[in-house]
Amino acid sequence: METVVSLAETLARWTGAAQEGGEPADSVESCVSHPRFVMMRWMGFLKTILFLPRWRLLPLVFLILPGSVSGQNVGMPVAEANALRSDLTGIVCDNEMRRQAVRDLLAKHGAGEHEITSMAYKKVTNLAVEVPGTSPERVVVGAHYDKSRRGCGAIDNWSGIVILAHLYKAIRATKPNKTFVFVAFGREEEGLLGSKAMVDAIPKEERANYCAMVNLDSFGMGRPQVLENASTGKLTRLAQAVARENDIPFASGIAAGNSDSSSFRSKGIPAVTLHGLAGRFSEVLHSSADTERAVNLGSVYLGYQFALLLVQRLDSCDCSELR
Ligand SMILES: [Zn+2]
Repeated sequence: METVVSLAETLARWTGAAQEGGEPADSVESCVSHPRFVMMRWMGFLKTILFLPRWRLLPLVFLILPGSVSGQNVGMPVAEANALRSDLTGIVCDNEMRRQAVRDLLAKHGAGEHEITSMAYKKVTNLAVEVPGTSPERVVVGAHYDKSRRGCGAIDNWSGIVILAHLYKAIRATKPNKTFVFVAFGREEEGLLGSKAMVDAIPKEERANYCAMVNLDSFGMGRPQVLENASTGKLTRLAQAVARENDIPFASGIAAGNSDSSSFRSKGIPAVTLHGLAGRFSEVLHSSADTERAVNLGSVYLGYQFALLLVQRLDSCDCSELR
């Protein structure tokens, strides 16, 4: 059964004028002026082909994506939309089984059994896997794996978990400068328990090594955007600049709710939550409507591309500029 709206349909709908948000990011100049990735050219080309009749689009997208963004282009493998689709449809709706499902997903995308760490705290257990870099600086990429009581938690937040796993796969294939820590947080819905436990366990003197935290929470309903009320200003502006420079359809305007980035922000660590919500999201989240059927593949795939560009940019940022 087709449960995910077609990628072509969504991209065609959204790839009008990308909505630019915020002021120019003067204070993160060197991050912003970093040489653009060749992926931009690919995004421009993608925009062009979106004007082709829809029946020609889907095969083109799938023919073009794998070859045009590999190796020398972005220096890492970029997943095809279909790879995300199969992981989205592999959702486990039982809250008790989700941590194991995340472990399985990370293993599927390259993590060895010994590489996936259970971060067990008093009230909550997170899962983490690292990609070591050459500098002591760390970038945390996170997504909560728990769901609210109602529904299947497909948008909120299996979508974020799927993006997390694919970002891990892409970064793992590179030799990053910074150490990337991918974390699946538990019990976010009960008050950000997993992320709070993690940041509370970071010794104060080590906080300076935490360059940035990128949180992925709830994709599948619209263009990517930043949850600004749960994010720090400079990282928000960097995210907006990355979207603008890469012609990523981007939105702004939703400032409701909270997420795990707030736990990092409260300790002075630059943090941003990315999401892909729009329209009547409040009728879907935390309701019986949050199932696989609600997930739009195009939204999740755009969120993945955007997050990949952002974390790749962060790897070459001067961390002091983000504070
Ligand atoms: Zn959530």
